[in-house]
Amino acid sequence: MNNQLGQSLAAKRIVVAGAGFAGLSFVLAFDQLWAKSTLNRPEVLLLEEDNRDKSIHKYPYTLCINGASSDDGLAVIQQLGLLDEVRKHSTLNDGDIRVWSENWKWLSSINPSAYGNLPAATMRVAREDLKRILVEKIEQTKTVIKWNSACTSAEHLSNGQIRVSVSGCESHEGMNTSMLDCDVLVAADGANSCIRACFRPNDMTTQYAGATQIGGISFFPEGVPKPVNQDFSLQMSSGEGVCCIYHPLNSKRIDWALSTVGPELKSKTSFSPEKLTALKQEALETASMFQEPFKSIVNATIPGTAFIRPAKEKPAFPHDTRLRGVFFIGEANHILNSFELLGANLALGDGWDLAEQLFCNASLDAVAASYDRLSIPRFQRAFDFSHERINFGHCKGGKWLFYKHGMAAQRALKKVH
Ligand SMILES: Cc1cc2nc3c(=O)[nH]c(=O)nc-3n(C[C@H](O)[C@H](O)[C@H](O)COP(=O)(O)OP(=O)(O)OC[C@H]3O[C@@H](n4cnc5c(N)ncnc54)[C@H](O)[C@@H]3O)c2cc1C
Repeated sequence: MNNQLGQSLAAKRIVVAGAGFAGLSFVLAFDQLWAKSTLNRPEVLLLEEDNRDKSIHKYPYTLCINGASSDDGLAVIQQLGLLDEVRKHSTLNDGDIRVWSENWKWLSSINPSAYGNLPAATMRVAREDLKRILVEKIEQTKTVIKWNSACTSAEHLSNGQIRVSVSGCESHEGMNTSMLDCDVLVAADGANSCIRACFRPNDMTTQYAGATQIGGISFFPEGVPKPVNQDFSLQMSSGEGVCCIYHPLNSKRIDWALSTVGPELKSKTSFSPEKLTALKQEALETASMFQEPFKSIVNATIPGTAFIRPAKEKPAFPHDTRLRGVFFIGEANHILNSFELLGANLALGDGWDLAEQLFCNASLDAVAASYDRLSIPRFQRAFDFSHERINFGHCKGGKWLFYKHGMAAQRALKKVH
């Protein structure tokens, strides 16, 4: 890197708030890109409010990291040189999305293919494995990760720098707060971003996307039943506005989420045994038209995994000049609703793109503009697709007939080819 910005950033300080997929991807990409430069490397400090162990292990779910386009998470993992390592801990999947009728008649399929030389259109990997691989890689670089360090506020200083307040529990006396001044602040602190609250206080609410899911993870010691044991599936009613998404996590566990369009229900993840029975009963009554193995899947729900999940979202925002030097990536910027689980893919892409734009542009304003040109359309495509899925999955009456005929035409075309 030999541009003006690179020279002005040399030997300065970049603070990254949040060691989620966005923050980890940014730090690794930045390190990799800077290694090509002869300039003095800026100091990069990654601050994470959790401790290392909690940060890696706290959410035991499986991620689909896609590889169907250059914008997907697998392409970033490849650019970071981690594809082989991630591959060892993952299962490959062709990324098919199958649409089924209430009595399991195949209605339609989306069959993405792998981009370039990526090994698959989708890879399934435990969140904790992917996080551990990224963290271990950073630990081999010069980036300092400060665990147990929460950013509590941030503000611009008159000299153009940004002051970040950091609260940590590293002292023997308990919590202590310190100030860090930096030249670039990367806000990667997730959906409830504290940095966003400081710079965009009126942008802290999520919107309801119109549908609420109830569901959980079901366990089958003899294996997940067919036909939902392999691919991501969507089961639709015949115009009654009910749909269920099935997402096999491994050969014995499947995530299911049944939804209807209607008023927002309160989000809930903790159920007493009686409340869990009532939730399962509600699912069976709402989707009484769905045939086996729907009932078995609902009945096999593992206590502690059940949820009521209103689809909440927040559109992406551009970086205006008032944010100078402060960049929002991943869910600190934009939140997808739960009908399109692509947030980790987007976060990885954001991290890579921001690091690259810091290398390709001559000013922070130019970085902001060119980063927005990459990140916002990527989010918008996923956002639009999630709404198409909500409209399609819950269609009623004439709209259902329209889709039904469209899917029949697609099946006929597939037979011809
Ligand atoms: C059940 C489930 C399944 C999912 N499946 C998929 C999937 O298959 N594919 C996919 O692409 N996405 C999936 N997602 C979404 C994906 O996990 C998220 O979109 C993604 O983790 C967002 O990454 P992020 O880095 O933006 O934010 P986060 O992962 O939320 O990271 C933010 C980090 O910042 C830290 N932090 C927060 N506040 C502070 C602070 N003040 N100071 C310092 N640190 C702070 C947090 O501890 C955290 O480590 C799924 C989500 C769920 C819940």
